[in-house]
Amino acid sequence: MLSGNMPILVLKEGTSREQGKNAQKNNIEAAKTIADAIRTTLGPKGMDKMLVDSIGDIIISNDGATILKEMDVEHPTAKMIVEVAKSQDTAVGDGTTSAVIMAGELLKQAETLLEQGVHSTVITNGYRLAVNEAKNHLEKIALKATDDKTLKKIAMTALSGKNTSLSSDFLSDLVVKAVDAVAEDRNGRIVVDTANIKVDKKNGGSVSDTQFINGLVIDKEKVHAKMPSSVKDAKIALIDSALEIKKTEIEAKVQISDPTKIQDFLNQESDTFKNMVEKIKKSGANVVLCQKGIDDIAQHYLAKEGIYAVRRVKKSDMEKLAKATGAKMITNLDDLTAESLGKAGKVEEKKISDDRMTFITDAANPKAVSLLIRGGTEHVISEIERSLNDAIRVVALTKEDGKYLPGGGAIEAELAMKIRSFANTVGGREQLAIEAFAKALEIIPRTLSENAGMDPINTLIQLKAEHEKGHVTYGINFETNDLGDMTKIGVVDPLRVKKHALESAVEVSTMILRIDDVIASRKSSASEGPGGMGGMGGMGGMGGMPPM
Ligand code: ADP
Ligand code: MG
Repeated sequence: MLSGNMPILVLKEGTSREQGKNAQKNNIEAAKTIADAIRTTLGPKGMDKMLVDSIGDIIISNDGATILKEMDVEHPTAKMIVEVAKSQDTAVGDGTTSAVIMAGELLKQAETLLEQGVHSTVITNGYRLAVNEAKNHLEKIALKATDDKTLKKIAMTALSGKNTSLSSDFLSDLVVKAVDAVAEDRNGRIVVDTANIKVDKKNGGSVSDTQFINGLVIDKEKVHAKMPSSVKDAKIALIDSALEIKKTEIEAKVQISDPTKIQDFLNQESDTFKNMVEKIKKSGANVVLCQKGIDDIAQHYLAKEGIYAVRRVKKSDMEKLAKATGAKMITNLDDLTAESLGKAGKVEEKKISDDRMTFITDAANPKAVSLLIRGGTEHVISEIERSLNDAIRVVALTKEDGKYLPGGGAIEAELAMKIRSFANTVGGREQLAIEAFAKALEIIPRTLSENAGMDPINTLIQLKAEHEKGHVTYGINFETNDLGDMTKIGVVDPLRVKKHALESAVEVSTMILRIDDVIASRKSSASEGPGGMGGMGGMGGMGGMPPM
């Protein structure tokens, strides 16, 4: 029997209809396949995946969200699992692999119950009750601290297992420094806007050359060799229009019949630029950051006035610069006044590898900092960038919430125990589903131990025993291949990451369980009206048509 309010999943044309048990089974299978594919990447001993696209570009990553984002997934329910990773990544920046593995396991446990004749609504109800109970326990178990030492452990845990692990100690310090720098106290509440941390990368050097900059770095050099390389007490003009004369304007206006007029014209043009630079100088600016081009002649005059100028600055950088220096974005030079200028202690050009970059430091608003990543190859740098962004997010969350949990499977083992005893108080058929949830939680410590080459069964038994003795913080210690107190060895995850991972795993698995009909839908172009694909679409309803 199918209940009336079951959602149906609509497939693209070319796929046949699946109904009832069969649809459910196939959906579960597809979701489990995705979860299995990334299982081996979980934890510090997890392996990397190499993703190769159709034109041969590769990405090497250990990050669940990245791997799933790049995977070419076709099956609709498999795609839903990929969405979980994405939403976990967007919301909290970490815990993506855990969320997906948990979702896969919840479905696997559900499959067994379905085979025993438990209805899917009973299962989804049980899972919901269980996850709420789990969240309450997480709040109770959460440890409280926001000191730098704890934050560093959070960063280290997030970075472990990534390609960055060799330098994670060093990188974690940088991350904590950056988060501390941009954290703001708003009416007694700490708020960290991670958008204020700009992560930049430059090929070359080694990871240990990665640096924290108390300000912004832009990947541009000064436009003219004669300009100063360093300006102290910088007064910065941010201009989002070109310091050029549009070529078309010249062509339209000038018809030179007399050769002597050429010089006049050139002088006139030169005067225009001289005027522009005059206006800039009058405002008191000694640095010009321009989003568009700067004409050679304008460059010459700017250099003559000792003004440091950069052109073609990215729009996103311009916005950050405005915020950091307090400058007002100017389009028309007539609007440029002393008040519209931004301020920074220093603007200077520095050579990084073979390139020159502009460093804007000690800005008026100190809540803007940068991390400049260095490393041997593009692949290394890109993976560091992804890892650092994750680490920044989790450290920021922990700084805001001040709450964290023991990692290494400790929390899942503890919850499994707590949820089992909760199941007994619920009774009925839901009890089975709640027990299944508890069992599913154990996939995390099990996978962590498997990936470390430990015996998963023994490890789980020992872990259970420790938690029954009240050792809440006991988890898997990879250094000793044994169990240990995670808070002592500094393996800790933010409360918000764990909570969100459980929530999204339950959300997607219940959504998939509620689907009992998968129907091939008409092409969306067909619904736009008659004609076009309409004829095909009309026939495609029941599937069986080859994909177009
Ligand atoms: P996710 O995408 O879910 O964050 P990870 O590969 O980052 O996946 O693995 C996270 C899990 O690994 C967490 O449960 C975390 O507590 C655990 N972990 C991380 N570092 C260690 C460590 N040094 N020892 C034990 N467990 C660890
Ligand atoms: Mg992680």
